[in-house]
Amino acid sequence: MHSFRYQRGKLYCEEVSIESLAEEFGTPLYIYSHHTIDHHFRTLNQALAPLDHQIFFAMKANSNLAILHDLAGMGSGFDLVSRGELLKAIAAGADPARCVFAGVGKTEAEIEEALRRGIYSFNVESEPELTRINKVAARLKKIAPVAVRVNPNIDAHTHAKITTGTYENKFGIEFEQIEGIYARASKLKNLRLRGIQMHIGSQLTEVEPFELAVKKVLPLVTRLAARHQFDFFSIGGGLGIIYNPALASGSSAWWKSKAAAGILTPAIFAAKLIPLLKPLGLKILVEPGRFIVGNAGALVTRVEYVKQTGKKNFVIVDAAMNDLIRPAFYDSFHEIVPLRQRRGKAVSSDVVGGICESGDYFCKDRLLSKVSEGDHLALLSVGAYGFAMASNYNSRPFAAEVLVSGTKAALVRERQPVDSLWALEKIPAWIK
Ligand SMILES: *Cc1c(COP(=O)(O)O)cnc(C)c1O
Repeated sequence: MHSFRYQRGKLYCEEVSIESLAEEFGTPLYIYSHHTIDHHFRTLNQALAPLDHQIFFAMKANSNLAILHDLAGMGSGFDLVSRGELLKAIAAGADPARCVFAGVGKTEAEIEEALRRGIYSFNVESEPELTRINKVAARLKKIAPVAVRVNPNIDAHTHAKITTGTYENKFGIEFEQIEGIYARASKLKNLRLRGIQMHIGSQLTEVEPFELAVKKVLPLVTRLAARHQFDFFSIGGGLGIIYNPALASGSSAWWKSKAAAGILTPAIFAAKLIPLLKPLGLKILVEPGRFIVGNAGALVTRVEYVKQTGKKNFVIVDAAMNDLIRPAFYDSFHEIVPLRQRRGKAVSSDVVGGICESGDYFCKDRLLSKVSEGDHLALLSVGAYGFAMASNYNSRPFAAEVLVSGTKAALVRERQPVDSLWALEKIPAWIK
């Protein structure tokens, strides 16, 4: 479901014309729909209603302050992976008691900050990390709430760069080792074994890997929960979204059409998992990122040049891989549409950025309506891992971001001023 639709031939985000936003704020420009975020959050929350549950939004997917604040207001907690994310979530109005700290590389400073702030749980990825958390907690005279991340060794059938639940990956602790780890951890005085966690991968479009993983760990979770009086079982994030427009329509029949196509929906997710999870009697945590925000974002870009070669029609735009790296990094598909609907023949096009890398493209050999210099295009479904993965490569400032709700639109991040690109750099006096 998303809220980017044509009205009288012009592309709108909810009730706001995107062209007017491009004029006011310039390009490249990220635009987010509050309504889409709210709809996804509520759909998942309602599907899981039969369980005692809590959504922890994985803020690495999109950490704009306004979006985090919006989600906190909806009742979301936050799954975070660094001190920066912790402090940013708090700045956005999040309650630390609704934050979980994940990631394989937590530093002592990060552990200390999280303990002082009173987070809900550390999701622990190795035995040395347990030892370290115990040590920091002892120094601060605190009891650290922890859960160990179990790697169930289930292939999530997704892109290799976003598969996390097999033994090829750096994440979690092997299934077979988990009981031993909990037994040793229970002897560490400054830990409270609060639960168990898993996360098998991202952009999952089938329910089977979730089901297999839950079924595989269930007996283990049952035993450990009884032994250590767990509060929760986190089943991670990873719910996929539709990137290809063939299925997306934005209409209210959208979820049904998605279900009919056999693609994973919150309803299917809930129908398969609730019967497995409910008997545990634990609080069930989910950590979706992409599912909540992925379809809620568009990246608007201006066509700078159309360059025809013997083989290709290159549409060169003012956004580039520094703004959106997903096509280069994960071979991802993003729908690309003009802000003004056009009739006439579609032409096979490569939409590319201006960066000096062959990987700097948004699509290759795709049939798109003909555009010329000065036209605008929107790349859809860029709300997750879009701006969040942006860089300043080629000394290109970060794009601006706008949040839309109904007829309202607000700048939620200013375009980065160009002189801030080198504001932290210094020339040593000994260079003549
Ligand atoms: C990235 C991540 C998530 C969120 O993944 P999505 O595919 O965006 O839902 C959740 N939990 C953990 C531990 C993660 O690393």
